[in-house]
This record gives sequence, C-alpha cells and structure tokens, in this order.
Amino acid sequence: MSRYDEHDQEHYDRPRRRSRPRTKDRPTYDDAVDGVVVTVDRGRLTLLIEGRTVMAVKARPLGRKGVVVGDRVRVVGDVSGTADTLARIVEVHERTTTLRRTADDDDPVERVIVANASQLVVVTALADPEPRPRLIDRALVAAYASRMQPILCLTKADLADPETLLSTYRSLGVPYVVTQRGGDLDEVRAQLVGRTSVLVGHSGVGKSTLVNALVPDANRQVGIVNAVTGRGRHTSTSAYMLALPEGGWIIDTPGIRSFGLAHVDPESLIEAFPDLDEMTEDCPRGCTHGEDEPECGLDDAVAAGTAEIDRVLSFRRLLAARERGSEDQY
Ligand code: ZN
Repeated sequence: MSRYDEHDQEHYDRPRRRSRPRTKDRPTYDDAVDGVVVTVDRGRLTLLIEGRTVMAVKARPLGRKGVVVGDRVRVVGDVSGTADTLARIVEVHERTTTLRRTADDDDPVERVIVANASQLVVVTALADPEPRPRLIDRALVAAYASRMQPILCLTKADLADPETLLSTYRSLGVPYVVTQRGGDLDEVRAQLVGRTSVLVGHSGVGKSTLVNALVPDANRQVGIVNAVTGRGRHTSTSAYMLALPEGGWIIDTPGIRSFGLAHVDPESLIEAFPDLDEMTEDCPRGCTHGEDEPECGLDDAVAAGTAEIDRVLSFRRLLAARERGSEDQY
C-alpha cells in the first residue's frame, strides 16, 4: 500500500511532460496576408496592405525581433484599415538588405533603421549650404557596409559647378545625378524607378523639395500615416516610405542625423570593392588596409601598378571616415 502511495505521489507532483514540442502548438497563420511597413511610431506600425493603410502591432511570437520601415511582413487579425482597428504582425520576411547604424560611435549596439532598400541616395547641395565631403563619405560607408548602391544627388547646380565635388568620388565609381532649382527631375526619376531608395541629407540641401516633387501626393501619404498614428502632420521624425508614381519606393529619413559606424569593420567595407579586396589576400592578419599599415597589400598593388593610387586613397579616406570627427553627424 505504501509503495502504491509513493508511486502515486511521484506521478502527480512531477510537472507533466509536454507530449509535443512547443513549436507545434503555434498556429500556422494560414490566413495571414502580406503587408509592407511604411513607418514605425513607438511600437505602432503603419502598413500598406493591398493599397490600404493598416495599423498594426507586433504579435507575441516575434518576441524582441525588431520590425522596421521597409520590412515585408505577414499579418493577421483586423486588416480592414478601419479606424481604431489593429492588425498583428506574425512574421517578418527575410531581408534583402539592412541599413544599420550604431547609435553612437562609442556605443557598439547596432540598430537596423531600414530594411530591403537597394539604394542610398545622398542628397547634397553644391552650394548654400556648402557640401561636406566627410558627411558624404560617412553616408557612403553606411551604404557599402549595408550592400546598398550609393548614389550622389547633387542639388543647386545653378549655384556651383558639380565637377569639383564629383572629382572626389570618380575613382570610387559612385553614380550621380545633378539637379538644379526649377530644373526637371527626369534623371533622378530614371535612377529611382522600380527600386527602393533611402534618401539622406541635411537640412537646406533640398531633400524635402525633392521628395515633394518626386511624390506629388507626399503630403497626403504622410498625412494619412500621421492621421492614423494620431500625431500631427509635420511631427514625423522617423523614416517613412512613400510610393513613387512611376513604381518603386522612396524612404525619407527626416530624423536621421547620424550614422554611427562603429559596427563597420574594415573587411566588410573592402568587400564592397572586389578589385581592391583581391589585393589584400596576403595582408598580415588584422590588417585594416589603412594608410598606416606597414605591410598592406594595397601598397604593394599600387607599387606594382595593379591598383590605381586614387582608388586606394579614396578607399582609405572612407575607412578613416568611420571614425567620428567633431563637426559631422553622419
Ligand atoms: Zn591590408
């Protein structure tokens, strides 16, 4: 009798084993629909689903996984987009690219700010305000490290000749477009059509003017976004994505004033330049390929005439631009 009691007690006091692995308890979300994230505001995400603007939150299974502008997501729940409804994001599709920054160069925590963009458009005025090459360099580093195609968009060409600035970037092979005040934007449109492009640029360079010209209903699109988030029309400081009339998307980044680049290591930067990368195979372990390296293969390649010195110098300038200076923010 006592043996029986013992057995019984053991049986009931032990936590019951799960008969199935946890994952199988998860719903399969067969009824989920696809959406794209156009802006994020304090945990509330604005999505576009079949042309409708839908507010959503992350569902529990996503845990701490971040969801950012440009993410392609699977959504369940109320996807009608009717006022005061909330859908739930249950899955984030694999990203093709991630534009990242470190919050600060001293803080190595990386944050993804935009997903799935293929181009980074660095908007710079040729005058008023004067171009700041170091900021351009930092934006280029962010683009290369993110495997995005950088493009220079030089505005106000009616005020200054673009040649001086362009000569700085020619050896890197950075594509560019030049615009002037009151001029047409055909060249810019041709670069953007069908792609997803992130626009960065400081105040005064004409980025807002550009966005409004490229997307004639930008105010309406942003207005919708802000109406649903319950904030004023002009308070948007985070990135938001707009549909281009010709096809493709642009992502404006009014709140992004800095690209901490502490997460960018020399190897990931040089991989964006396969011709130079090839020259570094015999570099000593840990070589950063910077100008102070004693035995860098890039110097050998320049000496042997297999690499252009301008290109090596430009690469090294980008490498050095990862370090934060006093006057810049990107
Ligand atoms: Zn090296």
